[in-house]
Amino acid sequence: MHKQQRVIEIKEVLKGVDDPELPSVGVLDLGMVRDIQVDSEQRIEVTMVPTFAGCPALDIIENNVKKAIEELDWVTGCSVTFSFSLKWSTDAITQRGKEQLKKHGISPPPENYKPGEEWRVNCPYCNSSYTSMENIFGPTACRSILYCRACKNPFEAMKPVIEHSIT
Ligand SMILES: [Zn+2]
Repeated sequence: MHKQQRVIEIKEVLKGVDDPELPSVGVLDLGMVRDIQVDSEQRIEVTMVPTFAGCPALDIIENNVKKAIEELDWVTGCSVTFSFSLKWSTDAITQRGKEQLKKHGISPPPENYKPGEEWRVNCPYCNSSYTSMENIFGPTACRSILYCRACKNPFEAMKPVIEHSIT
C-alpha cells in the first residue's frame, strides 16, 4: 500500500471521530487535523490544532483519534500532538461540517468575517436573519445562544474566530 493510500484511509477513519462538544461534527470537518505522517514502520503521527481555547475536550479528542486510528490493522502505533503555534479559525470548517452544525441547531460561523464587522447570524432552522442575541456567553466559550423571532426557536451560534498572524 502506498503512503498516500494510507493517509486517505486514516482520513476516512477520522471522519467518524466527533468533537465531543459538537456531536456528529467530525474533527476532520472542523478543520482540526493539520498533518498526518506515516513512517516506515507504519507509525502514525497526527498534528491537530485546538479549536476554541476555552473548549476543554482536548484529552478526549486525542484519545478518540488514537483509538480510531489504531483500529486499522496495519497501524503499529499512533501519537497525537496538539499544536498551539498553528492557529485554527472558523474558516477551516468544511461545508459538510457547517451542514452538520446546522442539523444540530447550531448556526455555523459567518464566512469571510472581518474583525470588527457586525456579526449577523441566520437561524439554522428556517434561515431567517430575524434573530436576537439572548446570551453572548453560551454553554461553552465558543458558542452563543440566540433566539429566532421568525420560527420562535432558540438556537446556538458558533462565534467567528479569525486566524491571527503570528509575529
Ligand atoms: Zn428560525
